[in-house]
Amino acid sequence: MADCQLIETCIFFNDKMANMPDMANLYKQRYCRTDNSNCARFTVFSALGRENVPPDLYPNDISRAREIIGA
Ligand code: SF4
Repeated sequence: MADCQLIETCIFFNDKMANMPDMANLYKQRYCRTDNSNCARFTVFSALGRENVPPDLYPNDISRAREIIGA
């Protein structure tokens, strides 16, 4: 799979989030570089647009993403 199309501007990928998790590099490999279809940030972006992605939403928090989009 290809890189996520948001990789250049995503605050998670570019280490701009507060309290980056120790697992950040693993998440980048798993989500950003391999498959963004299960990324919480990408899920909200796809459904509601960039302005609705919380700044503190981590890629692995898909349950919160589903709550935000009402899925
Ligand atoms: S955190 Fe999600 S939205 Fe951001 S670059 Fe990685 S896969 Fe894409």
